Amino acid sequence: MSKGNIGVTSDNIFPVIKKFLYSDHEIFLRELISNAVDATTKLKTLSSVGEVKGDLGDLRVRVAIDKTKKTLTVSDHGIGMTAEEVDKYINQIAFSGAEEFLNQYKDKTEAIIGHFGLGFYSAFMVSKKVEIFSQSYKEDAKAVHWSCEGNPEYTMEDTIKSERGTDIVLHIDDEFAQYLEDATIEGLLKKYCKFLPVEIAFGKKKEWKDGKEVELDEENIINDINPAWTRKPADLKDEDYDKFYHELYPMQMDEPLFHIHLNVDYPFNLTGILYFPKIKTNLDVHRNKIQLYCNQVYVTDEVENIVPQYLTLLHGVIDSPDIPLNVSRSYLQSDNNVKKISGYITKKVADKLAELYKADKEDFAKKWDDIKLFIQFGMLTDEKFYEKATGFALYKNIGGEYATLDEYMDKVRDQQVDKDGNMVLLYTNDPDAHYTYIERAKAKGYDVLLMNGELDVHCMSQAEQKHEKLRFVRIDSDTIENLIKKEDAAKDNYTDEQKEGLRKAFEALLPSDADKLKYNVTCEAAAADALPVFLTQNEFMRRMKEMAAHQQGMAFYGQMPDSYNLVLNTNHPAIQALVDKTEGQDEKMKQLIDIALLASGQLKGEALAKFVNRSVELL
Ligand code: ADP
Repeated sequence: MSKGNIGVTSDNIFPVIKKFLYSDHEIFLRELISNAVDATTKLKTLSSVGEVKGDLGDLRVRVAIDKTKKTLTVSDHGIGMTAEEVDKYINQIAFSGAEEFLNQYKDKTEAIIGHFGLGFYSAFMVSKKVEIFSQSYKEDAKAVHWSCEGNPEYTMEDTIKSERGTDIVLHIDDEFAQYLEDATIEGLLKKYCKFLPVEIAFGKKKEWKDGKEVELDEENIINDINPAWTRKPADLKDEDYDKFYHELYPMQMDEPLFHIHLNVDYPFNLTGILYFPKIKTNLDVHRNKIQLYCNQVYVTDEVENIVPQYLTLLHGVIDSPDIPLNVSRSYLQSDNNVKKISGYITKKVADKLAELYKADKEDFAKKWDDIKLFIQFGMLTDEKFYEKATGFALYKNIGGEYATLDEYMDKVRDQQVDKDGNMVLLYTNDPDAHYTYIERAKAKGYDVLLMNGELDVHCMSQAEQKHEKLRFVRIDSDTIENLIKKEDAAKDNYTDEQKEGLRKAFEALLPSDADKLKYNVTCEAAAADALPVFLTQNEFMRRMKEMAAHQQGMAFYGQMPDSYNLVLNTNHPAIQALVDKTEGQDEKMKQLIDIALLASGQLKGEALAKFVNRSVELL
């Protein structure tokens, strides 16, 4: 037997390991199983090149709990280690790397927790003693037994081990007794090992029989060793992709809308499958996240810094050995490989969407409402994506017809260009409330878009910035004649004094709630067949308020009261009859105001009841 000190200079690094990774100690299992899988894969490689002769036999990795001995064992039949190798890889190298790392990140524990495995030594996070029993594949190699009790001293001696491979035995700390529970270990294996390339067995398969759970003779295999993303797209059908989606997210009931199979080997390695889920509300967004794997080992589902933010709305897996995981998150953002990866994914996603739109516009339009949030988010946050997305981002009109912005502008160009050459696109966010406005627009042969999505306001502003002579206006923001001005404004023959008199008289009758609601009374010679009095709401102010709801630094707009223009139509006989004759006409004027409020959906409660009674009396 030999004794020695682990090749580290610091006095006792084990307490540091424990404290350091405390919040994420469960990753020890991932680290040990990854090592076991690596050792097995290496053996297969050696066999395939003829370095190892004969049948490799059983290659399953097994995880076993012994409750009486309080041990958790990970066993493999991989290449194993000789005494020299244990000395080199366990006593020296692994640990010196850990020390360097600890020094480097002394003060930044938060930044790296969860993204760095200390490899084999992470076993000490949960164990008071760790033993290795290993038999190398090499001819004449003696089996070795290594043991260490969580201090820099270890013992190493020859032993007898009948099978090739390595057993790592963890004597679990009392403090971490949960790792001796079947359910905990099974949960961790499902989280980290579900798609490892070598079979992982844990206990026996169970089945429900006559209301009781019975153990079968068969081993319980945790993982799918050939997950869909590692296979060739040509070998997979749509059903296979859907099936894999449910393997990834067992709790998800909906089918994904479509998928993208990623596969690059230059200038970096990356495979994966991304799915477009049905996104109904903002709440759905963060339930099923993209999972990041490194050679089929689950790493994390926090991919924010690796893929652009809007892509985190997608579901699926990304597997890349080229994403540096042992570094801080802020570093990731500036890493060149990571930038290339996110650029590549953006391009693939955009190309796939363009291809789907081209292949079947009608089908794409059907899916549009479900993918709209994602595409708009991408357009608003990623210039490159915006450029590609203009070819398939759709606008929907109130008749349920879809078109890209370019297609739509072509459609309305003859009608909706004003006298100054601006293309004016009319929209509503609430067709019921804006019914009267919409009817007036239709009567003029105009089209009206439906813009009631969460990001629509932002997208309209973006489109306006990109197109010099394009404006979006909500249908209730002014009279239709003013929204799309075809000729100079009509005039009336009243003096400023007369109009001021009218204005004042109406103003005195308006409901007052100055903090929340403001009315601004104006006179205008609108169309004779328009309403005598109507409400409009300034497009700019309203949009600023809507955008303030999503954006920091715009709170000022959010606090402004809602303000409306109450327009008195001096071309309408009912208003003309009131010029110079407002005295004693309060009831009539109230009726006119209420009609305007009613027409824009703002007359409610007591005011509505009063209006109804007054109307009956007038009859
Ligand atoms: P890493 O896996 O990142 O290299 P580890 O500390 O986990 O670091 O392991 C150090 C080395 O010990 C491995 O590279 C490998 O050579 C050896 N090793 C660990 N576990 C096993 C095992 N189960 N079978 C064979 N070799 C192993």
